[in-house]
Amino acid sequence: MRTPSEVAHRQVKRAASAGVGTILVGALLLMPSPGAAPVTVVTTTEDLAALTREVGGDAVQVDAIARGYQDPHFVEPKPSFILKLTRADLLVLVGRDLEIGWLPPLIQQSRNARIQPGAAGYLDASRTARILEVPTGPVTRAMGDVHALGNPHYWLDPDNGRRVAHDLLDTLSGLRPEQAAYLAQRFAAFDKRLADAERQWDAAFAPYRGTKVVTYHRSWSNFAARFGLEVVGYVEPRPGIPPSAAHTRDLVAEMRRLDVHLVIVEPYFDLRTPNAIARDAGAIVVELAPSVGGARGIDDYLSLFEHDLRVLMSAIDRTGGPHHHPQHHHDHHRE
Ligand SMILES: [Zn+2]
Repeated sequence: MRTPSEVAHRQVKRAASAGVGTILVGALLLMPSPGAAPVTVVTTTEDLAALTREVGGDAVQVDAIARGYQDPHFVEPKPSFILKLTRADLLVLVGRDLEIGWLPPLIQQSRNARIQPGAAGYLDASRTARILEVPTGPVTRAMGDVHALGNPHYWLDPDNGRRVAHDLLDTLSGLRPEQAAYLAQRFAAFDKRLADAERQWDAAFAPYRGTKVVTYHRSWSNFAARFGLEVVGYVEPRPGIPPSAAHTRDLVAEMRRLDVHLVIVEPYFDLRTPNAIARDAGAIVVELAPSVGGARGIDDYLSLFEHDLRVLMSAIDRTGGPHHHPQHHHDHHRE
């Protein structure tokens, strides 16, 4: 899986040890092979666009369909989206049925053979990602559950971003073999920056691990698993199903029982129910960005995590810190 990145690392090391120096290494990283037209890439989300830019650099021209502040399950199709798809060499989608409500007709209406399912220019980015909550029974969208093929919000674990970036490396190299070395170096540089950032994020967030939260939609399963949040409930009774009075009552009772003081909300949901829940449960509402472009300043994949972790830590501090009920925890362990 890491082979091309290891190759690129070796190439950079060899260049450095041969005395070629950092200037040439930097130049290699900045220049795609001349003469080849950039790959025209359309992604369904801004996260996938950001990852494509990391790997593709000047060898790609990237355009996203949904904006990061929109609910990616429910995007209103526009004729301009079809136009984008008509011109695309490569379509990158989140998959796991995230876009099932709006993307298939757009692909069909584009009449672009390069990006039809099964073609070389159709990349379902979920194929190499670690997917949580995959149903064990027969696949069903019963009761309108929009996560019938597992949790599609997998890009919120940086290691899944790395896996998608690697898949983009393979896919783009297949479409432009002459750019393979350039793309491999871009991936290696991204991989290293991400790993360095993860070490910093882990160190900063360590005191906050174990914090119990409620989230509006089931968007944060991968994020929570990666950074050590404990999600104890959801404002939605099921993914994609709006809040109901009975479910809200139960949730408030559960939050009081478990001492939960944080309700995480995505930017595209009505705040009335979360605010009422927070008021009744003695919690606060915090808005996190589920995507690149979901808040001011989040313009690439790394700044998505930087933003969310910073906002989250500050919110946990405002609730009195992650472990502000030592007596409760003590009692719990004694039971
Ligand atoms: Zn969802």
